Amino acid sequence: MPETNSQKTDGSGVPVAQLVNSAGGSPLLFVCEHASRRIPDEFEGLGLSADLRSSHIAWDPGALPVACHMSALMDARIVTSTVSRLVYDCNRPPDAPDAVPARSERFDIPGNVGLNDRQKAERTRFYYEPFRDLLAKTISRRTKAMATVHSYTPVYLGKSRDVEIGILHGSDSRLADQMLRTAGDHTKLQVRRNEPYGEQDGVMHTLNVHAIGNGLLNVMLEIRNDLIASAQQQRDIAEMLAGWLTAALDALGVDVTCEVPECRA
Ligand SMILES: [Zn+2]
Repeated sequence: MPETNSQKTDGSGVPVAQLVNSAGGSPLLFVCEHASRRIPDEFEGLGLSADLRSSHIAWDPGALPVACHMSALMDARIVTSTVSRLVYDCNRPPDAPDAVPARSERFDIPGNVGLNDRQKAERTRFYYEPFRDLLAKTISRRTKAMATVHSYTPVYLGKSRDVEIGILHGSDSRLADQMLRTAGDHTKLQVRRNEPYGEQDGVMHTLNVHAIGNGLLNVMLEIRNDLIASAQQQRDIAEMLAGWLTAALDALGVDVTCEVPECRA
């Protein structure tokens, strides 16, 4: 079960960032910035319909269960946000225009339109800083690598996406390179480098600050969300990605364990 960061709550008593599997001993740390679609009551749903509040614009469906399975398989901790990215996108710095998006894909977010500086600063203080601080605090001397786990919609702005798994990186591509090498031999899925997003889309914020900034190996994993819609799919993809991560980290000299049968030496 998730363990909470009891220091910070959003006013309703719910912590806005969580550490999952806190006893995990792995040198790998997972991060799930878009784990939750929860919009605290004070925002009255940001003026969105229930359908939109459940859709990919609010969160990354399936990403947290996949991260949880990988975390269990690899004895690794996860830092998550428990608030929708429409309230604050924890993978964006406070000065990014889409940190509190007024529009997402083709939808206006009425509750985010015309915010003044004080309102924006409050979003940052209450919903970004606790996540940032928990993540910073969780990185220890034994942490050697970080993987962020995301999902994306199969159809975006009316266009189908054929990439099925994206392995993303910024200035340090070592872990991504190794994973892509392994992936090529192990799946028929369409696995691609820096798709459907890349650094130019601003998606490397967490890794730039917390991984590159601390000299950690790092990678961003993007999974098309139709591939992780069911519990079985989530387990299958988690086992596959945990296997690739284990092989890649092993090749880079980081000693990790993995409970996926084919990962055992
Ligand atoms: Zn995401």
